[in-house]
Amino acid sequence: MNDAVITAFAKRLRTARHVTVLTGAGISAESGIPTFRDAQTGLWSHFDPEELASPAGFARNPALVWRWYAERRVKACAAQPNPAHYALAELAQRVPQLTLITQNIDGLHQRAGSPDVIELHGSLHRARCMADGSVHTTWDYDEELPLCPDCGALLRPDVVWFGEMLPRVALETAWAATLDCDVFMSIGTSGVVEPAASLPRVALGRDATVLILNLEQTTAARPPLFTINGKAGEVLPQLVAAAFGA
Ligand code: NAD
Repeated sequence: MNDAVITAFAKRLRTARHVTVLTGAGISAESGIPTFRDAQTGLWSHFDPEELASPAGFARNPALVWRWYAERRVKACAAQPNPAHYALAELAQRVPQLTLITQNIDGLHQRAGSPDVIELHGSLHRARCMADGSVHTTWDYDEELPLCPDCGALLRPDVVWFGEMLPRVALETAWAATLDCDVFMSIGTSGVVEPAASLPRVALGRDATVLILNLEQTTAARPPLFTINGKAGEVLPQLVAAAFGA
């Protein structure tokens, strides 16, 4: 079943003018990084996600929130990009234009060689000054409460928390790429949070061909909407090979 869909979608990819790709936590699952659902396990299972990822939670207990993000950052640094990340970097070389939008904060697309990744939810690898908003890519990782190297105010993880706006430029670029593309791919996202929920629909409304690739059972579809039920790390390399050769 998947093979027939892969063949048909690969054929469409060969003539694509602008491919826009949206990825979620599922694409990094095979790198050993837990998805949002899986992340609430073990040590952290007894914490409410809103305590760990909200401005109010950070105000109440910044040390706890920093500890959670520090652990996630260390895990992301230890993880390696998987074949799905590499396949997207390869695809960018093969099509005239590719825009890669991610909800992930792990930096694995960049490490796989994808340039200009649009990070909708920020990055584990950046911190932001609570006083002046300056962004830092290094800080004192051993500090329980890291401080801004410029002004000494408290730093916070440069990620988007519950209830916060997405970064304006990233969101505008994502919308523009969705409106412009002729092929749209949504990979490893549960698609319940905006704008992930809307982007595939918007692309379909503009007559783009749309692929939804997810591990979980997806509904049957017919062109211009394609769905594949499988692991991103297995399906994406197959797809790129079917479209452009190994
Ligand atoms: P999600 O956890 O809500 O959904 C992940 C989806 O990926 C699920 O639908 C699951 O079926 C699918 N999936 C799991 N393994 C897969 C695989 N191998 N191949 C294909 N699909 C697979 O994730 P989301 O939709 O990205 O939203 C969660 C939020 O949590 C986002 O805001 C994101 O920023 C954040 N988050 C990021 C990371 C990361 O940076 N890697 C990890 C966890 C959570």
